Amino acid sequence: MQIDEGLRRRLVRAVAETIIAHGAELTELDQAIGDGDHGLNMKRGFEAVLADLDRIAALPLPQALHAVGMTLVMKVGGASGPLYGTLFMQLGKSLTEQPSRAEATEAFAAAIEAVKARGKSDVGSKTMLDVLAPVLAALRAGGDLAATADAAAEATGPMKALRGRASFLGERSIGHVDPGARSSALIVRAICETLENSP
Ligand code: ADP
Ligand code: MG
Repeated sequence: MQIDEGLRRRLVRAVAETIIAHGAELTELDQAIGDGDHGLNMKRGFEAVLADLDRIAALPLPQALHAVGMTLVMKVGGASGPLYGTLFMQLGKSLTEQPSRAEATEAFAAAIEAVKARGKSDVGSKTMLDVLAPVLAALRAGGDLAATADAAAEATGPMKALRGRASFLGERSIGHVDPGARSSALIVRAICETLENSP
């Protein structure tokens, strides 16, 4: 698949519009186990990305991803801003302009490692990493990425939070889906659906 300006535009737009459309849901999840700003934070960040869409889509893939990451760092705030910023900026560093599936997989692995380092966190702490890591595993195994992401987000419900604001609740974080896990699943689904519908 040729990654041209049109595809870059559709990918960035799909991710941004999906997050913006689910802002209320993400906020509700964060109201249960955090401070209720995740939807607002993400919406603000991706509105800034959309406002810059013409410039971003015109950039080669690595620079476009870096630009998305920079915007998220500057606009999202909270814990998730620097973490999503790191994810996209590291993808920008690791990817070539026309990556193969294998190269994209390894770039995604490197980006997940960067998020772990930035958040001093790992899989099993009820965070976005509990979606990103299973999606990487599905990418390696050839599984359904969007379905894996949705199921992994749901599976954070029974987990106890060990990182981020939700960890202050201890046992009381159990029984609620992690907001960052949900936003990660939304991003993964938007990317998958855009790629499936691209010629
Ligand atoms: P804040 O917690 O500062 O209000 P947000 O509400 O925007 O920030 O984001 C919360 C989400 O960030 C959590 O649901 C979780 O998925 C993610 N998160 C928080 N801390 C970490 C961490 N150390 N590592 C990975 N993800 C984290
Ligand atoms: Mg919050």
